[in-house]
Amino acid sequence: MKQKPIKKVLVANRGEIAVRIIRSCSEMGIETVAVFSDADRSAMHVRFADEAYNIGLPPSSESYLNMDKIIAVAKRSGADAIHPGYGFLSENASFSRRCREEGIQFIGPSPESIEMMGDKISARIRMIKAGVPVVPGTTEKLTSEAEAIKVIKEIGLPVMIKASAGGGGKGMRLVHKESEIASSIRAARSEARMGFGDDRLYIEKYINSPHHIEFQILADNYGNTVHLFERECSVQRRHQKVVEETPSPLMTPEIREIMGQHAVAAAKACNYQGAGTIEFIMDENLNYYFLEMNTRLQVEHPITERVVGVDLVKEQIRIAEGMKLPFKQEDLKQLGHAIECRICAEDPDNNFMPNSGTITHVTEPEGLGIRCDGYVYSGYTIPLYYDSMLSKLVVWGRTREEAIQRMRRGLSEYKITGVKTTIRFLERIMETPDFVNGKYNTHFIEKNSEFLHGENNCEKHCEDIAMIATFAAYLSRFETSKKMNTIPIEKPESNWKRQLRKFTARI
Ligand code: ADP
Ligand code: ADP
Ligand code: MG
Repeated sequence: MKQKPIKKVLVANRGEIAVRIIRSCSEMGIETVAVFSDADRSAMHVRFADEAYNIGLPPSSESYLNMDKIIAVAKRSGADAIHPGYGFLSENASFSRRCREEGIQFIGPSPESIEMMGDKISARIRMIKAGVPVVPGTTEKLTSEAEAIKVIKEIGLPVMIKASAGGGGKGMRLVHKESEIASSIRAARSEARMGFGDDRLYIEKYINSPHHIEFQILADNYGNTVHLFERECSVQRRHQKVVEETPSPLMTPEIREIMGQHAVAAAKACNYQGAGTIEFIMDENLNYYFLEMNTRLQVEHPITERVVGVDLVKEQIRIAEGMKLPFKQEDLKQLGHAIECRICAEDPDNNFMPNSGTITHVTEPEGLGIRCDGYVYSGYTIPLYYDSMLSKLVVWGRTREEAIQRMRRGLSEYKITGVKTTIRFLERIMETPDFVNGKYNTHFIEKNSEFLHGENNCEKHCEDIAMIATFAAYLSRFETSKKMNTIPIEKPESNWKRQLRKFTARI
């Protein structure tokens, strides 16, 4: 394969990931082209890119999922490559193929690899062949309820009914009782048909006390494949990740070694090229099984970048340019501990209802060991049409304890007003004993629901109201005192005043 430097990248995405990709391109001296829908004229990725083109109406189907429009912009702007980010067209084999046909480099795997791994049934078959342990279950599409009952008799309840095309936690149902089978099949099938246009289902044994542990891999075009260790992603809500950390508190060096080998074998089995993730489910006895492969950059990739010291987007671009991986497996080490919190515009007190609206103010945390990958700014109006994730707060610490303390500090500095966010909820996660002790599985949020939504949250609201009231009083005193450059303190500061000073310090 010939090396071909990439000079201009079209980023076929929006939000934080588009900004994040543009940043790496800029460091590499690569020009960037943004595309945006009518709802994203004032979005951050548009401001960050060297050029920006409107691609249509706000619904994704009219803009960010419209291949013709995106390819047309790539041609018009002279982009020689397209980075798809995550979501949208990132795992779409037809898009990867279309790029190939049009002579545009797709920064991601071949359409053949996407097809093989994007379909969960075919991925299971391939993994079994490659000797990678998969969750016990079926390897053919489910045809009837009778067949489901037969399978369930063999593998035993509980089971998961899952969509072969599923993603984003959609199209799966947990079945505890035989009487639930028919309704679960119906529900999973209709969700799969609506969400993915493909209603094929299969059955997997439900792994008890499950841990979601995934391995980052990188593969070049010359047969070199390495893993960049694991990410623990068991803090989940509705099968979607909320907090991720690396290393996993559950992992042992021995299991890491063989799981890493299995992850590399999984990637090799589909001739994988680029960055990808092998997701595993692990039980409390550290038995693990292949769950699926994500053939793209993952939301939580920054924790790996921080601990391993690799810029995954740069590596993706270099691989697409036809370069060899600059490191071997033995060169890669994990240093310290990283945690990511996904900050969403959702209301935790109202069933995580997504919130659109105008952000009146944002103050992002800063300082040692903090990385904030976001895209919103004061005065920005969140469009209704897209994902509710506003940013990712990523911290690093020498130890897990330090990382948790730093995450608490970062979250406490993070101020977003105008819309409801999950910041408070994440602060509570960082205080939950099960999390602090590293003893949690995917049931964590459900199990600690009372604590996470508990009274203390209400106290925190009252605290804010009290602080705002005190601030108002303070401002009026400030006016009359006319001592513009001194804080009018007549008596020793009360705890409220001290809190107030901290609260307003960075607004
Ligand atoms: P992760 O969070 O581990 O990167 P997810 O599967 O949650 O992986 O997906 C990441 C993003 O892509 C999310 O914003 C999700 O909503 C979106 N996404 C995932 N699968 C699909 C799909 N099949 N169709 C549309 N969007 C998807
Ligand atoms: P998606 O493509 O939507 O990301 P996954 O197959 O990766 O779907 O599963 C998402 C989450 O659902 C997992 O992280 C885990 O929490 C749960 N899950 C899926 N399959 C199983 C299983 N067999 N046993 C236990 N939990 C499961
Ligand atoms: Mg998954």
